[in-house]
Amino acid sequence: MRIDLHTHSNRSDGTDTPAELVRNAKAAGLDVVALTDHDATTGWEDAVAEGRSLGIHVVRGIEISTRFHGESVHLLGYEFDPDHEALVAELRRVLDGREGRLPQMLARLADHGIDITMADVAAQSGDAAASGRPHIADAMVAKGYLAHRDEAFDGWLNSDGKAYVDRYAAPLLEAVRLVKDAGGQAVIAHPWSRGSDAVLTAAALEELAAAGLDGIEVDHNDHDDVARAGLRDIARRLGLVQTGSSDYHGTGKGPEFSLGCQTTAVDQYERLLG
Ligand code: AMP
Ligand code: ZN
Ligand code: FE
Ligand code: FE
Repeated sequence: MRIDLHTHSNRSDGTDTPAELVRNAKAAGLDVVALTDHDATTGWEDAVAEGRSLGIHVVRGIEISTRFHGESVHLLGYEFDPDHEALVAELRRVLDGREGRLPQMLARLADHGIDITMADVAAQSGDAAASGRPHIADAMVAKGYLAHRDEAFDGWLNSDGKAYVDRYAAPLLEAVRLVKDAGGQAVIAHPWSRGSDAVLTAAALEELAAAGLDGIEVDHNDHDDVARAGLRDIARRLGLVQTGSSDYHGTGKGPEFSLGCQTTAVDQYERLLG
């Protein structure tokens, strides 16, 4: 069984439609794929329908933008009630924050002579419920300012970039509680990525486990072997599930993030979602 529990479609900043993503997951030899768009569940229906027709199991998920001690932390949620009122309200706040900062970031780019309109961004974000920096980057590429999405982050869109504007993110503990209250499973995505590694200490993960956190994503391209060994040790001590996943974004990220490049062991999957 090959299981990939973290992928993005064009309902956030991936490039495949949800159905294309599931077709690509099947072609990559996966048996289980979770669709985890940023802050949105609008891809679930198409992905599940495609999975049924192809015979690949689709887990319904999300990657929620959260904040913990001032740092950005991404929280994966699985198989929760998408109509849970408090969770929907919190996601609405996050999505509104995404929309609100777009014109502010475009104004900063304009200050530097880069002319990107909201219509340019909308042309790139298309069906996305969650618009973000990658769509601004794509608009910069479409207008010939850059050759690839990645180039926009250095100097412009990264948190220390000239066009960066912060946005609302859900408090992490509250997000964990909301996912649990909505009947789902909560797993921290790439906990020791740059930034979040400083705040997601063993003690912090213990506090989160006590609040209901189910697992942590250990096998992710952002983690080197030392980080993985450290996270495995913490997971074992705290009884947290260990997942592995690609964080696939279609052509929005490089080929090293291909579907199934990192996978979740069957026993861990069964503990989490079985
Ligand atoms: P946002 O959702 O607007 O906060 O933008 C963050 C998203 O941009 C992340 O989820 C990644 O998919 C993408 N991203 C972040 N850093 C980079 C980078 N250096 N190159 C390309 N994409 C990036
Ligand atoms: Zn993304
Ligand atoms: Fe993430
Ligand atoms: Fe992701």
